[in-house]
Amino acid sequence: MLGCNECQVGKMSLSYITYMTWLGEEMVMVPDFPAWVCDVCGRREYDQLAMARLSMLLNSEAGKPVSRPRTIHPVKGHKSARPNVSD
Ligand SMILES: [Zn+2]
Repeated sequence: MLGCNECQVGKMSLSYITYMTWLGEEMVMVPDFPAWVCDVCGRREYDQLAMARLSMLLNSEAGKPVSRPRTIHPVKGHKSARPNVSD
């Protein structure tokens, strides 16, 4: 029986939750994902094997790095330089 590391009194029991994660800018929901949930404080610990499988699945599906900072290309506008207007 797994004890809870958070509250020290609860017991972790296996239940199936909907795991949500971000894949780039898309939210991915994984229903029926195995997680150990504390019956006292509600702390969740995800099954390591399931996590590994999930990340493998997501990586193969995406085929691109999860968090890539969006590069902004500044548009070079041709501002018409006004000739010096003097009174
Ligand atoms: Zn707990």
